Amino acid sequence: MSVLAPDTLEDVLTHLGERPEALVLSGGTDVMAEINMAHRQAPADVVALRRVRELARWRQAPAAGDVPGTVAIGAALPYALMERPPLRDQLPALAEAARTVGSPQIRAAGTLGGNLGTASPAGDALPVLYALDAIVHLRSADGQRDVPVAEFVTGVKQNVLSPGELITAVTLPVRRGWQGFAKLGVRNAMVIATASACLAVDRDRGTVGLALGAVAPTVVRCRGAEEWLAGETDLTADRLDVSDALAREFGRRAATEARPIDDHRSTAVYRTHAVGVLSGRLLRRAAR
Ligand SMILES: Cc1cc2nc3c(=O)[nH]c(=O)nc-3n(C[C@H](O)[C@H](O)[C@H](O)COP(=O)(O)OP(=O)(O)OC[C@H]3O[C@@H](n4cnc5c(N)ncnc54)[C@H](O)[C@@H]3O)c2cc1C
Repeated sequence: MSVLAPDTLEDVLTHLGERPEALVLSGGTDVMAEINMAHRQAPADVVALRRVRELARWRQAPAAGDVPGTVAIGAALPYALMERPPLRDQLPALAEAARTVGSPQIRAAGTLGGNLGTASPAGDALPVLYALDAIVHLRSADGQRDVPVAEFVTGVKQNVLSPGELITAVTLPVRRGWQGFAKLGVRNAMVIATASACLAVDRDRGTVGLALGAVAPTVVRCRGAEEWLAGETDLTADRLDVSDALAREFGRRAATEARPIDDHRSTAVYRTHAVGVLSGRLLRRAAR
């Protein structure tokens, strides 16, 4: 096995241009588990991102006029830095999701690039990226492209990455309004989601984004429930006016947009019920 650990992004891209089949290794928390469990063959050629500092940074773009600012997170920034200030203050839902990933050891190594590369519908960062309409930035030796997250993931563990292409960063908007993430699993820690949800209020536009994880081949945006809610309550308000009945109905509508299956982690019926409850709870939290 050849393992290259370049210091710069340009060297990673040059190597991937010459060896497009090389495996990109970021935190290795998915890759090494797959190799150890014989779900993936040990690759002949590996490019490790660990030393590339520009991929492990985040930066806040200044707001232009009234347009809200954005945060660009390097693909190799570990979850451990997303769950803490100052990044937590900009993207609270991402911080909540990051805090639920694995254990401290996994969060010290695991990254958004890896969650997107694996593209599991149960990946905890993904509902946050969907609810906030994140943009995924890709580069290769031949050029670059920016892809909305909902177009990046194409199916269960499938995405639009071409051989030799690298995820360099993810851009997320910094929104005025409550946002949060909720996850259900068979225990309280070190668990892959049975169902998950992210709710993000945009007070400037008077809208919400609601995305559900682990209840369809890809994360689901609940456009129907989002539009219904915007017609029922003033989402620009300082304090949202949400009755129990409204939260329950929001959850019920969200659940109808899920397309879950029975598998070794849960049943479709339970998952449908669970995302309804999670969505209703998130809305109640948003109104506190
Ligand atoms: C014990 C344990 C617990 C876990 N718990 C959770 C959990 O609670 N929630 C959760 O969501 N996940 C969990 N995971 C899975 C894993 O930690 C996450 O999916 C993590 O985000 C993977 O990131 P990584 O950097 O380690 O990816 P890697 O393992 O390095 O890579 C994963 C895939 O993405 C590709 N890739 C990585 N970076 C890039 C890039 N920049 N450009 C292109 N392709 C890239 C790789 O080639 C590979 O195909 C767990 C894993 C373990 C072992």
